[in-house]
Amino acid sequence: MKRVYMDNAATTSLNKEVFDEMMPYLTEIYGNPSSLHTFGQEAHKAVSNARQQVAKAINAADYEREIIFTGCGTESDNMVIKGIAERYAKKGKHIITSAVEHHAVLYTCQYLEKTGYEVTYLPVDEFGQVTAEQVREAIRPDTILVTIMFGNNEVGTIMPIKEIGAVCREKGVFFHTDAVQAIGHVKVDVQDMNIDMLSISAHKFHGPKGVGALYVRKGIVIPSLLVGGAQERNKRAGTENVAGIVGLGKAIELACADIEKTSERMIAMRDRLIAGIESTIPEIKLNGHRTERLPGNVNFSIKYIEGESILLMLDLNGIAASSGSACTSGALDPSHVLLEMGLPHEIAHGSVRLTLGDDTTDADVDYVLEVLPRIVEKLRRMSPLWHG
Ligand SMILES: *Cc1c(COP(=O)(O)O)cnc(C)c1O
Repeated sequence: MKRVYMDNAATTSLNKEVFDEMMPYLTEIYGNPSSLHTFGQEAHKAVSNARQQVAKAINAADYEREIIFTGCGTESDNMVIKGIAERYAKKGKHIITSAVEHHAVLYTCQYLEKTGYEVTYLPVDEFGQVTAEQVREAIRPDTILVTIMFGNNEVGTIMPIKEIGAVCREKGVFFHTDAVQAIGHVKVDVQDMNIDMLSISAHKFHGPKGVGALYVRKGIVIPSLLVGGAQERNKRAGTENVAGIVGLGKAIELACADIEKTSERMIAMRDRLIAGIESTIPEIKLNGHRTERLPGNVNFSIKYIEGESILLMLDLNGIAASSGSACTSGALDPSHVLLEMGLPHEIAHGSVRLTLGDDTTDADVDYVLEVLPRIVEKLRRMSPLWHG
């Protein structure tokens, strides 16, 4: 049976070139980057090279000071939000975020609320966007951080990051963005977009799992989440995941090298998938923004049937998809993102997310367009809600 992986927002395959680059650091180059001998220095050099690759990809000014390697995107989000909260508590205890963030941001904010911080969760419009104007109005004298995601992991909506960055810069408030879904897929420039801090995760752009990075603009001090070592200029204790870091560096270099061109190819496949679904399946709704959208994201609500049953049927046909985010599926709560966008519970329940990767082909899109309408028709015929 044909196997089609369309869950690239959950994780991506490891690029072969990336794997080849990592391999020596899992075998013969095993020194500890903190060691002064040659074994250690070889590893140190590799980490330093990856740091430059990351800085170049996002146009950071100073790779040595501004890029910190972490264990994952979740850690980067935790580190930046908890760190800023702790370090700048004297200035204030107010944080601004959006209601549709990834749980790595949302739950960290909720955690801080329990310890005396105040968080404003900006509501989104029907497409899942907040505006820079909303951010401006929410900023108070005691606001210490604005954290708004770059691209939404569920519905793919891209936020007006440059405009939000400009407002934060004008108001003198730090701006962090969770760019885990955007990096390697849309152009990200931390200087041009006035981004002060930015979270990255390697496994979302065909790098390895279990390694992330955090950009922190020079001059902003964030305490380490972990203590016990002087690694990463005292910002992240613990012996570096050298092979993972090398993989992250190579993957971000490859993904960002020709970003306009590769995203163009993916946008074409995405839009063909959207158009194909819209022309063959009645009573559906595209979730998220039609154009301000991540190149690989397709998310539909398919009325009168459960998202979970569509996923099971797709899986039986060799197609891997998701409803909402991987972390929330399994539970039957509808996605917080769809509910915040104003979808009624029963429609939010029938949502399916198909996310493309660098290895997705036109034949994969054809196969989904052949299988999905059949599945929907079959399920609807069994649904008591369907009127035929
Ligand atoms: C996947 C994801 C994360 C978490 O990254 P991990 O490396 O899996 O911890 C955070 N934010 C967004 C938007 C994501 O898509």
